[in-house]
Amino acid sequence: MYHPASPAAGDFIDHNEVLETLSYAEANRENRPLIEEILAKGALKGGLSHREASVLLACRLEDENEEILRLAKKIKMDFYGNRIVMFAPLYLSNYCVNGCLYCPYHSSNKTIARRKLNREDIIREVTALQDMGHKRLALESGEDPRHNPIEYVLEAIETIYSIKHKNGAIRRVNVNIAATTEEDYKKLRDAGIGTYILFQETYDRTAYERLHPYGPKHDYAWHTEAMDRAMRAGIDDVGLGVLFGLEDYRYEFAALMMHAEHLEASQGVGPHTISVPRVRAADDIDPGKFKGGITDDTFAKLVACVRIAVPYTGMIVSTRESRECRERVLELGVSQISGGSRTSVGGYFEEEEEDTRQFEVHDNRTLDEVISWLMERGHIPSFCTACYREGRTGDRFMTLCKSGKILNCCHPNALMTLKEYLVDYASPKTLEMGNQLIENEIGVVPSPKLRALVARQLTAIEHGSRDFRI
Ligand code: SF4
Repeated sequence: MYHPASPAAGDFIDHNEVLETLSYAEANRENRPLIEEILAKGALKGGLSHREASVLLACRLEDENEEILRLAKKIKMDFYGNRIVMFAPLYLSNYCVNGCLYCPYHSSNKTIARRKLNREDIIREVTALQDMGHKRLALESGEDPRHNPIEYVLEAIETIYSIKHKNGAIRRVNVNIAATTEEDYKKLRDAGIGTYILFQETYDRTAYERLHPYGPKHDYAWHTEAMDRAMRAGIDDVGLGVLFGLEDYRYEFAALMMHAEHLEASQGVGPHTISVPRVRAADDIDPGKFKGGITDDTFAKLVACVRIAVPYTGMIVSTRESRECRERVLELGVSQISGGSRTSVGGYFEEEEEDTRQFEVHDNRTLDEVISWLMERGHIPSFCTACYREGRTGDRFMTLCKSGKILNCCHPNALMTLKEYLVDYASPKTLEMGNQLIENEIGVVPSPKLRALVARQLTAIEHGSRDFRI
């Protein structure tokens, strides 16, 4: 029985409720009065229910589909402005005991080289990432209690935060590791992580158990209830995601919205971020083998519908997507992207001798190329990590976000962290473009007093000051 606040996965992701939602959406895909009503509710920027959002995704009316894209762009600008937060993945280890059929790290893949970074490796990788200009990482690791126990991950986090190369520093470490115990989540919280990210892969239980034939990840309820354990353990910021391309995107979309509703109902705050990865080729992995492939048009519409349905939740797109596709979805709702990424273990410091990539990257540009491209398109690349370091997490962040007051922090912080990047890492072309952008954007900072403070800090950054944040 569908019960959004229930702790049991089978209740908050009720299969029948998803199927009823899909048939309701299909039945109303050309119901103009209803779709107009839902768009009007969406325009109030309070979000939509999973049923309403599914109707928009199913919509077949041309004008209304145009309106969906237009509204998504407006909500994106109202809450996130033209700021785009930057991050990079860091792969610690590809040892894994699970059998995920869509991932090259599955334990029955005997052709892939297995690697695990030791402390010296981590220092080399993080130094390379800092020398690129990154301030925020997403830590990735296979699930293997023998090779990658929680202690290994905790030591890695401590090492990462301890490295300060020149003006470099990793100020926020988000963690994407397998579902674990409340006790381990407490340890991660105490280690000072940012967001705990876990992809559901698929919400369809039958498909899930088929795609995860063995290993601890085979347990659907354990995996699906992980965010509840993490939030009960005191991790305020969690990141959801579905691996689009495995199963029916409409089913996944409806269930993803139900998961967000569940966290709001049971934990008092929805997800901090939602990721929308698509299955990509890798060693032993052929995306064509899965039945859920979607076109770039459908992917763009899906991003727009997520944006309208959960306006306060950040959206992440990685280098699984091409430059062209990223360009499109940045306008429609995406607020955070990776740049200069390596998806192999040890890939930042050394050229890959062996292919340990988790997926083929579709945007191979350097971070500096991505930064100048973003600025050419009128976006402000932001390396801000202030909120969680200022205790603005979970519902405290959401309250500020819902009131729009977050703008008073985000925009100044974006300009100041961009300035740090420009002074320490940018190419001459990017430096010139960036200084011009900052000059244009400082006027957007809400109050004259704040503007004066930011202007003083921007000058201070040119003279060596670092890490000032609001
Ligand atoms: S998706 Fe994660 S758990 Fe599954 S095989 Fe890959 S690394 Fe292991």
